[in-house]
Amino acid sequence: MSKVAIVTGGSRGIGAAISIALKQAGYTVAANYAGNDEAAAKFTAETGIKTYKWSVADYDACVAGIAQVEADLGPVAVLVNNAGITRDGMFHKMTPQMWNEVINTNLTGLFNMTNPVWGGMRERKYGRVINISSINGQKGQAGQVNYSAAKAGDIGFTRALAQEGARAGITVNAICPGYIGTDMVRAIDETVLKERIIPQIPVGRLGEPEEIARCVVFLASEDAGFVTGSTISANGGQYFS
Ligand code: NDP
Repeated sequence: MSKVAIVTGGSRGIGAAISIALKQAGYTVAANYAGNDEAAAKFTAETGIKTYKWSVADYDACVAGIAQVEADLGPVAVLVNNAGITRDGMFHKMTPQMWNEVINTNLTGLFNMTNPVWGGMRERKYGRVINISSINGQKGQAGQVNYSAAKAGDIGFTRALAQEGARAGITVNAICPGYIGTDMVRAIDETVLKERIIPQIPVGRLGEPEEIARCVVFLASEDAGFVTGSTISANGGQYFS
């Protein structure tokens, strides 16, 4: 029987590419999303991948959502914590709401999703948790203090939990994408993108969502059992850490 994978934010952008790549690799995939019903319905129609709506920022909704996925598809073997948002602004203009929304989704979301699947993974002595962090969590980015803090937190979460999961056959890893051509990046002003961001990327282009998805498929595989607590930087050579 094929293993079950949940991908949060799995119906758009990088998450959609991850859902599709995992399906192609033989997993039964549940793609979670927050509110964009139209994109989710289109995604299911095009790929045949089931979508599930709940917010990763809400612990009780995660518990209920994961229970529904497990009832429909079976126990979760692979969890990809991909859902993320930005609420950018310079720190002197950052409101508590901008801070809280980003921390609750991008950092607390990892707790909310991983905690309810962890016990089952420990009992079954197998699991793969893959967290999509960001280059801006590694290097810090002006205008994104909230996002950089959350994404750096994701790396700390990964390193600590990897140590707890190791003896139970569970690996926990992070991927730090650089700039990838999705809605999140297309929201940046085009001139800023062309004149300031792309020139900083040694390969001279944005990354493709599929390039992140291929890293996920490797980390999700049984072959990656010795890789845990690690961070894969997939950023076109923009930053080394
Ligand atoms: P998009 O904005 O294209 O898609 C975000 C996805 O996350 C959507 O499916 C959205 O659901 C979902 N989502 C947002 N909030 C929640 C929530 N509270 N609960 C459940 N799902 C939620 O983002 P990207 O594909 O660009 O980014 C994916 C991940 O990669 C993020 O964690 C991001 O921080 C990270 N990243 C992206 C980079 C980039 O260059 N694009 C660079 C580095 C990291 P819905 O469709 O319902 O809105």
